[in-house]
Amino acid sequence: VTDLLLTLNAGSSSVKFALFEAGETPVRLAAGQVENLAKLARFKAARTGGAAEAVELQPSGPATHQRGVAEILAWLEQQAFAGHVAAVGHRVVHGGPRFAEPAIIDPAVLEALRALVPLAPLHQPHNLAAIEAAQLRFPGVKQVACFDTAFHRGQPFVADVFGLPRALYEEGVRRYGFHGLSYESIVTRLRTVDPGLAQGRVVVAHLGNGASACAISAGRSVASTMGFTAVDGLPMGTRSGQVDPGVLLYLMAEHGMDQAALTDLLYNRSGLLGLSGVSNDMRELERSDRPGAADAIAYFAYRLRREIGSLAAALGGIDGIVFTGGIGEHSARLRAEVLPHLAWLGVDMDAEANDRAADVITRPGSAVTVRVVPTDEEAVIARHALLATKARR
Ligand code: AMP
Repeated sequence: VTDLLLTLNAGSSSVKFALFEAGETPVRLAAGQVENLAKLARFKAARTGGAAEAVELQPSGPATHQRGVAEILAWLEQQAFAGHVAAVGHRVVHGGPRFAEPAIIDPAVLEALRALVPLAPLHQPHNLAAIEAAQLRFPGVKQVACFDTAFHRGQPFVADVFGLPRALYEEGVRRYGFHGLSYESIVTRLRTVDPGLAQGRVVVAHLGNGASACAISAGRSVASTMGFTAVDGLPMGTRSGQVDPGVLLYLMAEHGMDQAALTDLLYNRSGLLGLSGVSNDMRELERSDRPGAADAIAYFAYRLRREIGSLAAALGGIDGIVFTGGIGEHSARLRAEVLPHLAWLGVDMDAEANDRAADVITRPGSAVTVRVVPTDEEAVIARHALLATKARR
């Protein structure tokens, strides 16, 4: 049996995994996730080509990320995969100013990642928990941290800084941008399906439960909508996106809100959910006939149009737009509320192609090519894990 690569991706409400055969290009053998952790946790897994097994965790109810990772490891054991794992790649949300590349995890790196918890208190601890669990189960196996921030580290100073005293920038108060592994996945895919566009100026919109957009020039990140934290930029399922910081000062002064209350407001009660009063889930909003649902979708589309204009300005022009993530890949309605308004930028949407989420959803003469590209963060993590382990052999 050949060596296997395991990827672990501990998100805010799920832990995803994938298992690859370690070859020249890693081949996926199995994938799955423990999802809905905070509410009614479920575990789903399938071998490639096989039917998915889905079980509710026992006892039913909420589960921790540790528990999620433990379920995945137990499944790998039961499928007789665990003994062959030769490297583990982890998605790590925050690499701070330092990590611009994936890193092999040793005690010093782990300590550096712990020191970054204050920069991503809602996400980084889950990633660390996954690393610790994997280290315990696979002692001596190389573990590689792949950062969501790394892709953006080469941005110019003006894209990286806030208009605050310089000492705060030096302390690490910068725009990090996130979803970097997804953007890397899109860039890699473009190199195959549209090498010309891969060399051009592209705005990629990663629209899932979390949402951001990134300006990419010849494969390099130039600007992104997410800033110091993953709450900035576009509105999301439950996160606000950009708000005037003066609103927060007002809420502190007039509503007596403290840090915990503001965190809950900005991360859990805002965005599509807060605006619609219906749901954080785009599918449910599209089905709903309550007026708030249409308002929330309209606001999401409006902010995305504005951000695409802003990112095109950062790029000094635009050759292409890519939609990805659950909403970007599957919501024809959202794309149709964005693209016709970008005719001034050179976008000529093909409505029929958009309805069936074709690879290219603009007409042949369109100055800007718009594509729908599925993201594959797991494949990026696996590739990095493979490269990092080879380099050390
Ligand atoms: P992600 O975080 O990438 O899994 O994306 C989750 C989001 O994608 C949720 O808001 C879903 O409602 C949305 N989504 C998934 N499938 C569809 C679909 N067929 N139509 C509209 N939205 C969808």
